[in-house]
Amino acid sequence: MSEGDGDGPKPPFAFDVFTIFPGIFAGPLDESILRRAQDRGIISIAIHDIRNWATDKHRTVDDTTYGGGAGMVMMAPPIVAAVEETLGDALGQTRILVMSAGGRLFDQSLAEDLARESRLAIVCGRYEGIDDRAVQILQAEELSIGDYVLTGGELPAAVIIDAVARLLPGAIDAASTAEESHREGLVEYPQYTRPPAFRGLEVPPILLSGHHAEIARWRREQSIRRTARLRPDLLDLDALSPTERILVEQELTETGGE
Ligand code: SAM
Repeated sequence: MSEGDGDGPKPPFAFDVFTIFPGIFAGPLDESILRRAQDRGIISIAIHDIRNWATDKHRTVDDTTYGGGAGMVMMAPPIVAAVEETLGDALGQTRILVMSAGGRLFDQSLAEDLARESRLAIVCGRYEGIDDRAVQILQAEELSIGDYVLTGGELPAAVIIDAVARLLPGAIDAASTAEESHREGLVEYPQYTRPPAFRGLEVPPILLSGHHAEIARWRREQSIRRTARLRPDLLDLDALSPTERILVEQELTETGGE
């Protein structure tokens, strides 16, 4: 556990998740790096069942849509009560994220931004989504993990927890996050491990050469080529050198891109 500024051990980065299906989180958050990060006190994850804040005996959390239309909508009062009561005095200082198919697209730079917080509240929608007044009252940020519609916000919440937690000091080897995809607007170079040849495909000889400067140059070139081929939308040509821009043109010509 890392130490704070002389005030004893630093408290874990706290994730508070609000859901009507708490059981969904048991698997993804309880294995591997996220499990270790919890065991080491780097993160804490509290899953709150929104139904505990329902006010009727059936623990109702959804109702029909005003204005008509298919499906049910999650009611604002139980969500607002759950978040307000759980955060208490921390309400004004805690970023509240509502999972939403139509929200701002979550990406690596937002993950890095969120990792600078010390606590996050994440609200998971279900059905047709949540009553918009809950978003307004909680002054929440609506986030989407991609341009598709899922059945609920639980998997998106787990995605955000994973992406943020691995950036926290001590969660994983810092070198692993220094050179990976979505840094500097590029995707990562291809990776290889043993065996050196497999089904007629050899590991690029440069990687076995031990020439670190040459390997770094090769990797940067491959990163640029792969980004041009697979994710041209990420490329910032102004951030590339003239030689690197030629590489992009070559890659696009060879692969039939623009
Ligand atoms: N009626 C909504 C719409 O058209 O945008 C879709 C609701 S969806 C079936 C139910 C819940 O799943 C949403 O309230 C949200 O919490 C979650 N969800 C679905 N897709 C998502 C995505 N791409 N990113 C984040 N959350 C998502």
